[in-house]
Amino acid sequence: MGYTLCINKESPVIKMTRRHAMTTAAAAPLALAAPTAFAAGHAPAPARGSVHQRFALGDFEVTTLLAGTSRASNPQGIFGMNVSAEEFAVASAENFIPSDIAQFFFTPTVVKAGENTILFDTGLNAGGITAALTEAGYGADDITHVVLTHMHGDHIGGLQTEGTPTFANAVYVTGAVEHNHWSSAGNAGFDANVVPLNEKMSFLNGGDTVAPGIEAVEAFGHTPGHMAYRITSGGAALMLIADLANHPIWSLERPDWEVRFDTDKAAAAAARRNLLGTIADERIPMIGYHMPFPGIGYVDTRGDGFRYVPHSYQLML
Ligand SMILES: [Zn+2]
Repeated sequence: MGYTLCINKESPVIKMTRRHAMTTAAAAPLALAAPTAFAAGHAPAPARGSVHQRFALGDFEVTTLLAGTSRASNPQGIFGMNVSAEEFAVASAENFIPSDIAQFFFTPTVVKAGENTILFDTGLNAGGITAALTEAGYGADDITHVVLTHMHGDHIGGLQTEGTPTFANAVYVTGAVEHNHWSSAGNAGFDANVVPLNEKMSFLNGGDTVAPGIEAVEAFGHTPGHMAYRITSGGAALMLIADLANHPIWSLERPDWEVRFDTDKAAAAAARRNLLGTIADERIPMIGYHMPFPGIGYVDTRGDGFRYVPHSYQLML
């Protein structure tokens, strides 16, 4: 498997400005806390570095793209809603992370699969995703398919650039259940970003394929029709989990901890246990949209939950 580790000190992480945070907050669940995110005593500067990471999966070229990052205070207001502050603090301290502030990441993925260049999700806004694509050597016009894992604002926010489709040559693919739900939800973000693309959109159910090697996997709960995708090529496989689990500790170690933005909390927890169990059994890599960038890792079982093992060099080999 080939691999390109891209280190470019001149390419800053896309910084979500306060204005962006406020304009996208209503439709961007994990960004909700951003306007008040920068707590006194914590360094405000974001991490700097490359905003893309690429590796080969069989004959496919997979690139994760950091389209944005934001910092939020009071993460227990998002994760661990059904546990005590003490339990949240202990689980955090055991893993060397603070319990009063967190850094969130927004990471679409592009897969070059033969003639197809398939983008999974689009970030908070067009600027973030197009900047990351550019660094990775892609133009917005190169994208042949945009796959939407679900319709939260931090996944559909880059579809339009001031009312014009960002990806001029793309067709769109999403889950039928998800699209049906939002079509009657009266959601401004969906109506502005997705509805104008409906004529170029096709719909799938679990087990259907976007293209050869790109199969939808039902992971309902975060939203009513939230989809993961199994990507396979040349005997290699990975699972793109989207928002199945959004934190390496608070979601993987504690899959039953309730998450504010999971629409059906019990279903979301059941989906985590089911699909993370599959990934652990198969020992395949996963890509998580909100995992610390580059969002690539492995999953093992631990105790009553799971252990996230961030990618180190396995995919270089
Ligand atoms: Zn999300």
